[in-house]
Amino acid sequence: MQSGIIEKIEKLKKEKNAVIMAHYYAPREVQEIADYVGDSYYLARLAVSTDKDIVVLCGVKFMGESVKILNPNKKVLMPNISADCPMAHMADVGKIAKMREEYDDLAVACYINSTAELKSVSDVCVTSSNAVKIVERLENRNIYFIPDKNLGTYVKERVSGKNIILNDGCCPIHASVTAGDVEKIRREHPEAKLLCHPECIDEVVKMSDFVGSTAEIIDFAKASADKEFIISTEDGVGYALMSSSPGKSFVFVKQDFECADMKMNTLDAVLSVLENEENEILLDEELMAGANRALVRMLELAK
Ligand code: 13P
Ligand code: SF4
Repeated sequence: MQSGIIEKIEKLKKEKNAVIMAHYYAPREVQEIADYVGDSYYLARLAVSTDKDIVVLCGVKFMGESVKILNPNKKVLMPNISADCPMAHMADVGKIAKMREEYDDLAVACYINSTAELKSVSDVCVTSSNAVKIVERLENRNIYFIPDKNLGTYVKERVSGKNIILNDGCCPIHASVTAGDVEKIRREHPEAKLLCHPECIDEVVKMSDFVGSTAEIIDFAKASADKEFIISTEDGVGYALMSSSPGKSFVFVKQDFECADMKMNTLDAVLSVLENEENEILLDEELMAGANRALVRMLELAK
């Protein structure tokens, strides 16, 4: 049954000159058929260079929007247009305008997990893998970091000489991991190293042996001499962790560590979107121009 779907997807991909890009949190069977799998930074860089006519983005809406904004001539399709990141909406355009009035040298650093509208009024985008480097490289002293207060706190603790102002947003999935969850799993796996995403709360970040983006967590586990790891990020990374580090063992910090929106990217939905070319990302031109400026500045500063 599944092999039938896969054959159809492969055939349509060729016929329509399409490419499938997936985030590490997409379901395993979708990662298996994707042409590229990566973290948000990797997917943004790929967006600029793809020569295919259609991009099927198996992730959440801000990822599809970022591809469209960086490469507006492509047709960008989402397997499920409802797959959205709740944190992407947790900042306010009016508040940004007020902050700009208050601080005349303000730079708004916008986590890529944000709407196109928020990006369009920001100075630069960041991802979890380049946020520290980019904020360090900004000339401004006052930085308004939106929307994630946890990634913002992580950056604040690593960058000196800046006034980093936090916004009250967070990822409900990562922010639900508590110090108690870590203590409990550490009692069961006392030798295991804790690898954590910076969207986790500060207390959990401070208990970790390594903090990084999804791709950085996967690379760290692969390069490490250790054999046992506790993972504090969404369970979709389990597939890449196990395939790139055979012989090592991975447990998740808590059960059902899942982003429901990411799991909307089913194989059936990928096939359907390739057949019907529905769920296209379409954005207002002016909004795209503003958001493009912030994304391109990220790509330049992250070099
Ligand atoms: P990465 O940038 O690490 O891929 O993370 C994206 C994300 O949505 C984390 O929740
Ligand atoms: Fe958004 Fe959190 Fe899902 Fe990542 S895991 S897409 S931050 S809700």
